[in-house]
Amino acid sequence: MTADRRDQAVRAALAQGLLTEDQPVAALLDVAGIRASARALRAAFAAVTDAPVLHAFAVKAAPLVPVVALLNEEGIGAEVASPGELALARAAGVRPGDTVLDSPAKTRAELAEALELGIAVNADNPQELARLDALRAAADNPSAPIGIRVNAQVGGGTIGALSTATATSKFGIALRDEGARRAVVRMCLDRPWVTRLHTHSGSQGIPLERMIEGIREVYGLAEEINAAAGRRQIDTIDIGGGLPVNFASDDHTPSFAEYAALLRMRVPGLLDGRYGLVTEFGRSLLAKNGLILARVEYTKVSGGRPIAVTHAGVQVATRTVYDPASWPLRIAAYDGKGLPKAGEPVVQDVAGPACFAGDLLAEGRALPPLEPGDVVAALDTGAYYFSNHYGYNSLPRPGVYGFSSPAGEGAADGREETVFAPVRAPQTVAEIVAESGGELAGALLRGE
Ligand SMILES: *Cc1c(COP(=O)(O)O)cnc(C)c1O
Repeated sequence: MTADRRDQAVRAALAQGLLTEDQPVAALLDVAGIRASARALRAAFAAVTDAPVLHAFAVKAAPLVPVVALLNEEGIGAEVASPGELALARAAGVRPGDTVLDSPAKTRAELAEALELGIAVNADNPQELARLDALRAAADNPSAPIGIRVNAQVGGGTIGALSTATATSKFGIALRDEGARRAVVRMCLDRPWVTRLHTHSGSQGIPLERMIEGIREVYGLAEEINAAAGRRQIDTIDIGGGLPVNFASDDHTPSFAEYAALLRMRVPGLLDGRYGLVTEFGRSLLAKNGLILARVEYTKVSGGRPIAVTHAGVQVATRTVYDPASWPLRIAAYDGKGLPKAGEPVVQDVAGPACFAGDLLAEGRALPPLEPGDVVAALDTGAYYFSNHYGYNSLPRPGVYGFSSPAGEGAADGREETVFAPVRAPQTVAEIVAESGGELAGALLRGE
């Protein structure tokens, strides 16, 4: 999202009353931007391979039904990892054939449902595969594609919690462990219905080269299995997601096109048409298409440090608040009408509303002096931020609004109108009470 486009959306959001004393936080999504990201992803892979490619959006990055439906309209399926995410994808109209089920803890019931619906399943471990043996034997016509998730153990990135390809990662079968590679080949030869391999080498913080190294390992394993089977048993490789996002500027770097081109250079055999592909991008499709707006309630100075107390903190920016070094966010400052603030920057903290000292959106940040009634915008928060609410202090989930300019980009009269479509209604206080056992107030009382 360009700064101009963002400024226009913020001004329109304020003019149209999306941010009020009652609703002091609101999240915006750029509908045209999401469509453009989806198209860029599809075009990037279409440029490097003729093979069929299913791009499955990692639903956890933005578990919002209208967003999954928007992506689906752009030809993007869904990667799901829980019964809730599967239900969201189905509510969004994603076809079973465009859905992939991952997760390291699938129950028998989840597996049976996936088999019945014809949803692709990536088995995480040999015990899960044994369950699939039994469930498939009992199923009428088990046609769901089954894959095995492997961890190429190529190493982690700068964020430990998101590094899925370390030696001891909890995901998949660790390929470099003693005897593991041979065992995976055996598992496949014993099960002619295993037709896929899956790997996801990590998310934000993983160097591109390392991600691609993981994919190269898995491609090599597929070649080995097919040679041993004497046929093209493995016909599809799921390369996961994890393209890092640039949180430091408005540039989309690295781009999907750069990633696909690098993949073709490093793993040409993967793209020569012999293998179908699945991708599972999340953050890179959504992050730069969303922002959080929050009102500044008070400003103060403590120990010489100016602090703006806003309504956006840990409930919408959980990772940033708990791990600010890994997840710094850019903050833009606006006045109460949504006009960009001017003024000599002052080093200040941007705090959230939660009751612990670390609840800061930004620490020691140079921003125009903020005043009560101003608005701060946390940028690049379209993935994993406002959509993954954290219920601390019983703070409500903010409303989410998709914005578009029906007149089109740069309309001739220069007066584009921005329209907002509600994506998720703001949570009410009554809903919070109900979700918190409000109907059960007497449940623990003696009742005498
Ligand atoms: C989280 C996850 C993704 C998406 O990762 P991003 O960094 O958001 O692209 C894809 N696949 C699996 C298995 C995941 O766990």
